[in-house]
Amino acid sequence: MVNERMYGLGAEPSAIRELFAYGMARKAEIGADSVFDFSIGNPSVPAPDAVKQAVLELMEEEPSALHGYSPAAGDPRVRAAVADHIRRRFDVPASPDQVYLTAGAAAGLAISICAVTEPGDEVVVIAPFFPEYQVWIETAGCTRVEVPAHVPDFQLDIDALDAAIGPATAAVIINSPNNPVGAVYTRENLEALAALLARKEAELGRKIYVISDEPYREITYGAEVPYVPCVWPRTIVCYSYSKSFSLPGERIGYIYVSDLMDDAAEVSTAVAGAGRALGFICAPVLFQRVIAACIDEPSDVASYAENRRLLTEGLGALGYEFVEPDGAFYLWVRALEDDAQAFSDRAKAHELLLVPSDSFGVPGWVRVSYCVSRATIERSMPAFKALMEEYRG
Ligand code: PLP
Repeated sequence: MVNERMYGLGAEPSAIRELFAYGMARKAEIGADSVFDFSIGNPSVPAPDAVKQAVLELMEEEPSALHGYSPAAGDPRVRAAVADHIRRRFDVPASPDQVYLTAGAAAGLAISICAVTEPGDEVVVIAPFFPEYQVWIETAGCTRVEVPAHVPDFQLDIDALDAAIGPATAAVIINSPNNPVGAVYTRENLEALAALLARKEAELGRKIYVISDEPYREITYGAEVPYVPCVWPRTIVCYSYSKSFSLPGERIGYIYVSDLMDDAAEVSTAVAGAGRALGFICAPVLFQRVIAACIDEPSDVASYAENRRLLTEGLGALGYEFVEPDGAFYLWVRALEDDAQAFSDRAKAHELLLVPSDSFGVPGWVRVSYCVSRATIERSMPAFKALMEEYRG
């Protein structure tokens, strides 16, 4: 016998990965140019040149040191470089002790949730939400509490959060810029969250952590992305280079436990413990070093901005309804029938791969990832048109 829950997770791939796998098979069958694969958030922009240069230079180093273990939390030089970057960029007193290098935001989130919860606690997520949150929350023995985003702007709904946060609430996960809707939480909205959490902490007599999931921090189209620790001190930032440097396969990111929280050292120790318990120690060492070498390198968002323009203009002209994204590289489009899965299936017949919204915790929408080539968007427009005509005549 194997573990039933783990068997279930292994047997049922996520809706995103399932569609992505279908797309790979379909491309092999009919040719890559004939499939409009908007399923997964795999960056289409190449990693910066500086990354390649850093790899080449590092390869000159002595191999056993270069490829050896680092301490569990990461190479001290890299932790120092990350802390220094956070200090300079956000004007907060970041110390290297509060930085823990991780295999992407995924590991960072799994660790952070385990670090600040006890089994039986509740973790609040904002719907629509990144589907893997559910897996990590359950693994920590906790319960997910869903709070719908405020419609139509998809900001945090402070009244709904007020109603949802109770004696069992240990943490609130927020993700801005947001996958899947592209919303960026305003400073005012985050300040309202902070005021609510301060009141709830006093009322309930417990600490409530914000886990800020930030892989898309750099991917914005002009919006300000406030640094959450400056607004709510009890924040754990889960950062990743998967999207900002287009390095999702290298599995590199970090946890930063804000120095501004009164229990910062204790939380960092629990982060180290959770990393140990989950086996997430010593993030990939070569890429720890690479990000330290490239830490101030800007992200290239020009082609995502152009894709966003093409897609929103194109779908707008065809009569689709969607949320105008301020960040990330996803468009949240209203399905043309209530059943998002059925709509996604009908889109498939036009070779359009759109992720149904159900696994993000809401019905009736699809997510269109526009981290694709410009040509994919241009060529997909007749298919989107035919799909619309199928529904609306
Ligand atoms: N959080 C969100 C909202 C994401 O979209 C993703 C990846 O797509 C992750 C976390 C995980 O990212 P990583 O590749 O850094 O593990």
